Amino acid sequence: MLKDSIYRELKKKPKHIYLTFDDGPLLGSQAIDSILTTKGVKGSVFLIGRHAKMSKKLTGYLNRYLDNPLVECYNHSYTHANGKYQTFYSDPSVAFTDFVKAQEEMGLKLKVARLPGRNIWMFDDVKRLDGRNGGTTAGMLHEDGFKVFGWDTEWRLNGKTGESDQSVEQTYKAIKNLLDKNIGLYPNNVVLLMHDDMFQLPKAQRKLGALIDSLQRHPDYNFEFMTDYPKKY
Ligand SMILES: [Zn+2]
Repeated sequence: MLKDSIYRELKKKPKHIYLTFDDGPLLGSQAIDSILTTKGVKGSVFLIGRHAKMSKKLTGYLNRYLDNPLVECYNHSYTHANGKYQTFYSDPSVAFTDFVKAQEEMGLKLKVARLPGRNIWMFDDVKRLDGRNGGTTAGMLHEDGFKVFGWDTEWRLNGKTGESDQSVEQTYKAIKNLLDKNIGLYPNNVVLLMHDDMFQLPKAQRKLGALIDSLQRHPDYNFEFMTDYPKKY
């Protein structure tokens, strides 16, 4: 009975959505930056140091993100583990140093991180691991003052074709379902994971715009930065 009354109270409160984009700067970052600006909504980007150094164009995309008040820039490591996650996290001090390098080389001010290839949460007194290695690295980051965030649900699109198994409508419903049933990590808060390279093509960019439009039409939904996670009452 108590649980029911808590849920009824939660339902009346505002809901908080966190649009998060991983692996930038990449082709696609410029479009994300423009779409967030046009729609006037906040976005959180988890960046890779090595990508920012790959070309003048990508350095430019990093700078656009850093200059945009609707975007907060966070740490997603320097090398992205070179795609070898198990090996990377087996030496936590090497992994930790990789994050420090990314923080310094991109000039990131906020101490917020997401681990490549891992859905691990470590912030305040919350600790949620995903059953694979990486927990020690997350612990070292947390100890150093970082908040480490995972995600509640993911939207996947093929960056080369703009096609997806999961339509805009399905993604909207997945978010709504998490909020309605309170099955995310934290009630009334949903973290959506996307990737910068999903939005290279105009077709995919229109889908991102359409998703934001449908979320904005809901009177209770607000967009937040990960630094404000979780919104409590
Ligand atoms: Zn990644």
